[in-house]
Amino acid sequence: MGILEVKGVNKNFGGLKALDEVNLEVEQGTVHAIIGPNGAGKSTLLNCLIGRLKPDTGTVLYEGKPLLARSPHEINQAGISRVFQTPEIFADQTLLENVMIPAFARRDGSFAMKAWNSVSGEGELRDKALAMLEDVGLKEKAHVVAGQLSRGDKRRLELAMCLVQEPKLLLLDEPTAGMARADTNNTIDLMKRIGQTGITMVVIEHDMHVVFSLAQKISVLAQGTVIVEDLPENIKGNPKVQEAYLGGAHL
Ligand code: ADP
Ligand code: MG
Repeated sequence: MGILEVKGVNKNFGGLKALDEVNLEVEQGTVHAIIGPNGAGKSTLLNCLIGRLKPDTGTVLYEGKPLLARSPHEINQAGISRVFQTPEIFADQTLLENVMIPAFARRDGSFAMKAWNSVSGEGELRDKALAMLEDVGLKEKAHVVAGQLSRGDKRRLELAMCLVQEPKLLLLDEPTAGMARADTNNTIDLMKRIGQTGITMVVIEHDMHVVFSLAQKISVLAQGTVIVEDLPENIKGNPKVQEAYLGGAHL
């Protein structure tokens, strides 16, 4: 049994079938990549997994229990965190504050900002937040306002905001999008280290270097359907995959 099992999930937007009988099984402690052309439904699938979208039909089991009836907050509390395609950070707050907010949320079960003044053990959370910033290579910028960061740094900050919640399952939507090669390689190293801590990851990624560096299993989504789920070594030569990519991205 996988940590995450997606069975026959459908999602329509008006007349458009964004997800069409999607099945996915993610094994505990692995990196599972989802690849596929633009518009294939990858982000829609992730949005269904974190409760931002409700599928029309289908089932999702997380740790063997139904997920879809839960609210985004309950899903997050159950140990699922997501890094978005566009970083969602608090632009006017410092990096340290950005990481402390989800740390409070994790501990107190809400994002209530009143916690700032009255909280006990704030020093402990601050230390934890600083350690997370160090992990992602941003410790020196702890007191910089987040809005000033480069795109690569914003993504790293968002990763720290996820990790501080100690997720069991991390969902990443194009974590290296818009990054230069050096930044991409740093992100690959960071994700490898995250994987070594036992966190399961589902990663949507265009960059095949990233996919083949990290993934133990790859699902290929095209027009809302998983056309192939296989080991990385079997993906590149698969004619169905090559067809799905014709005229679009290249493997
Ligand atoms: P991907 O992440 O693989 O590029 P998406 O999941 O973003 O693809 O989109 C899948 C399809 O669903 C696309 O055709 C997109 O235009 C459409 N879509 C996504 N979100 C919405 C929405 N909220 N309303 C209407 N159509 C949407
Ligand atoms: Mg997308």
